[in-house]
Amino acid sequence: MADNSSNPFENAKKQLKAATDLLQIGKKQLDELSQPKRELTDDIPVRMDDGSTQTFNSFRIQHNDALGPFKGGIRFGPEVSMDEVKALAMWMTWKTSLAGLPFGGAKGGIICNPKNFSMAELERLSRGYVQQYVDYLGPDKDIPAPDMHTNAKVMAWMLDEYEKLTGHHAPGTFTGKPVELGGIASREPATGYGGFVAVQETAKLLKITPKTATSAIQGFGNVGQYAAKFLSGAGYKIIALSDSQGAIYSRKGISPEDAIKCKTEKGTLAQCRAAEGAKAAIITNEELLELDVDILIPAALENQITAGNAGRINAKAVVDLANGPTTPEADAVLKQKKIRVVPDVLANSGGVIASYFEWVQNNYGYYWTDKEVFSRLSGMISGAFAKTLQKAKEHDTDMRTGAYLLAVSRVAKAISLRGGA
Ligand code: NAD
Repeated sequence: MADNSSNPFENAKKQLKAATDLLQIGKKQLDELSQPKRELTDDIPVRMDDGSTQTFNSFRIQHNDALGPFKGGIRFGPEVSMDEVKALAMWMTWKTSLAGLPFGGAKGGIICNPKNFSMAELERLSRGYVQQYVDYLGPDKDIPAPDMHTNAKVMAWMLDEYEKLTGHHAPGTFTGKPVELGGIASREPATGYGGFVAVQETAKLLKITPKTATSAIQGFGNVGQYAAKFLSGAGYKIIALSDSQGAIYSRKGISPEDAIKCKTEKGTLAQCRAAEGAKAAIITNEELLELDVDILIPAALENQITAGNAGRINAKAVVDLANGPTTPEADAVLKQKKIRVVPDVLANSGGVIASYFEWVQNNYGYYWTDKEVFSRLSGMISGAFAKTLQKAKEHDTDMRTGAYLLAVSRVAKAISLRGGA
């Protein structure tokens, strides 16, 4: 039999099945929830700076819109695949539902290596994506946002292209935009901040005090850097940090600010051994995951904690800040080892919650203060954490299944009310 354990879409379906086995849900409805409503794929031709034309395979997967317009980021990268984007789209459906947002779930991607592009090529690629999918996007249809290797600048080009093609202003079509185009400053730190709130709730649950707690973070991009800064600010000692090139480790603790400064200057964390004052050791990403630490935070990519290494995880809790870092097989092992796992659909929902605030403000043309955004965001994550924990207790199950029970039943109810399966 084929080994599907590293196929994110197969894993997403397994997680859904684990929850629906506990829900009164018919086969027809399970079938509908297991597949995207719409799978769009197309090649994007891009004129390169040397005059040649290259084509890049792209996707927009719209999983479910029973609760509201499709919502989900666009990822650029050489590893992007149809199944990865399908999994991410499904996870978005559960994430927006769990947070109580009026959105469904979607995701997009382009197979490319953005590091090899000039700014002008990246702009043409971004605009090309909108040209392909313009008919399917809009503030009340499908609202993209940044994801891995995309950012506010990419959203600005995409919004501009969308508004040129449709002939009207529609800032609510994209979230994660620059502030000058209707974005909100607090969108950038929002996922890391939401992750920090989830860690705080986890610490309370495990009776860990931040001042004595240790944390290791895999991935030092948008999410990992902000999570590190907020955690360190609250007193957590960050003992290891990593990027795709390797990890640094120091029992004395690493200053995220120094690490960010050094990584910006030198390019990789592995070149930042002295950044924290006390010399750090260089370890691998695999070793980072197996450190003896209170809170382990995978904040890079899928399939990092698997059946292969779950038995060697030594953390008291794993807080999933990446999408899909912990596989269903690993979940089972961690449960046996009594390691608390806070699922991605809850722990990294700060980004989409802030995106929701951005969309609301665009629709109203009325903007809140950052303080208001952070305070509402914190309240929503803490509320979803408490409800998830309660649901997990009711069913004597883990928090991922608890989160799915809440999220899936809300979507299933909306489908039924619409007269569907
Ligand atoms: P990013 O591109 O800013 O950063 C990714 C980081 O992961 C980089 O530091 C990169 O070097 C590192 N990385 C890549 N491969 C690695 C590997 N094999 N081992 C260790 N590190 C590796 O991306 P991001 O926005 O920080 O997103 C990280 C994760 O969080 C993704 O799974 C993303 O889908 C998820 N997420 C992001 C947001 C958001 O608002 N940015 C919201 C929800 C979920």
